[in-house]
Amino acid sequence: MKNEKYWETWSDNELQAFQEAFITWYEKEKRNLPWRVNLDPYRIWISEIMLQQTRVDTVIDYYYRFMEWFPTIKDLAEAPDDRLLKAWEGLGYYSRARNLKVAAQQIMTEFDGQMPKTIEEIRQLKGIGPYTAGAIGSIAFQIPEPAIDGNVMRVVSRLFEISDDIAKPSSRKVFEAAMYKIIDQYRPGDFNQAMMDLGSSICTPTSPKCEECPIQSYCLSYKNNTMTNFPVKSKKMKPKDVYYIGGIIENNQQEFLLEQRDPKGLLANMWLFPIAEVSKDRFEFLQKMLIKDDQQLSLDFEEPLLVAEENPEIFEDYSQVVWQKRTLGEVTHIFSHLKWHILVFYGRQTGLTAKNENQAWATKETFSNYVFPKPQQKMLDLYKQEFRKKE
Ligand code: SF4
Repeated sequence: MKNEKYWETWSDNELQAFQEAFITWYEKEKRNLPWRVNLDPYRIWISEIMLQQTRVDTVIDYYYRFMEWFPTIKDLAEAPDDRLLKAWEGLGYYSRARNLKVAAQQIMTEFDGQMPKTIEEIRQLKGIGPYTAGAIGSIAFQIPEPAIDGNVMRVVSRLFEISDDIAKPSSRKVFEAAMYKIIDQYRPGDFNQAMMDLGSSICTPTSPKCEECPIQSYCLSYKNNTMTNFPVKSKKMKPKDVYYIGGIIENNQQEFLLEQRDPKGLLANMWLFPIAEVSKDRFEFLQKMLIKDDQQLSLDFEEPLLVAEENPEIFEDYSQVVWQKRTLGEVTHIFSHLKWHILVFYGRQTGLTAKNENQAWATKETFSNYVFPKPQQKMLDLYKQEFRKKE
């Protein structure tokens, strides 16, 4: 493309004027965020990891609590796993929290308890990629290293009309080359944060507010009115659909059965009501059959009907459970590569079964002792809606 290296045509004076305009705007408009009160690399690190895939407004409360529970790298390195996951509960992408702890342990053993100060060393820490290393290095240690995420790629692609597909990892080097050229050598942290702020508040995905933009006079796509053509991004792969039957099982003592997931894999070690994977056909069959059923308006257990009896392969381990022959509803949840569909049933268990170590009976009052992922919270919401109606 003809303008692919437009940034190389900028003179030193032009570059300096651009940086000044941008940093002046940042100083005036910067968002007042709790991790910006000082240049502590630990605070910057935690905030940047939380901000991956999560909005600033959501992160703030999590951030305060995390810093209260784990105020130092040492505290994080020694954090009990369940407390760490509790601090992360609801944020999703739980491997981020686990990696934080591993990286904190690395810092304690390999870097004498101090956050390393070079990009190469920061990159050695578990869970830290080029973006986070650039953010920590530039903000805490003033290293002129770009921090390139989707927001920054959007701004830079518009600024220079870069048509490389931002979904392709190979395009990264083009954005890096542009950013190395334009980053302020003396205030790289402020420059990177100005990029982040501009991307989230002004150079937004669908309707950029170019009239308010401090770098408008340098922006090629503004000049050519091509803002909405950038960034170029190929479509993401659709997440794979996975189907489950979920069971909310209550015993005579108003306790609910919870099961802990395996220590490895998706939602590792977290607690859920029991779920069992079924085929799409089975899921759709149950969905239709149960929705059509006349009994569905009744929550009466006087003549309970056994879902399990009619579909013995479902919850075969729960043969003592009397299932209500209707669903409480459906829960869907999208992980980055999977979409879970859970058809949720309610059942009563007359006797108490022996617990195995991955199961627990818990009252509603003690749910807060367990770490629940989002799909579990959604199942619980369905239960609450139904039983609130009934009360
Ligand atoms: S002028 Fe518009 S398109 Fe260009 S960087 Fe500013 S907000 Fe984005």
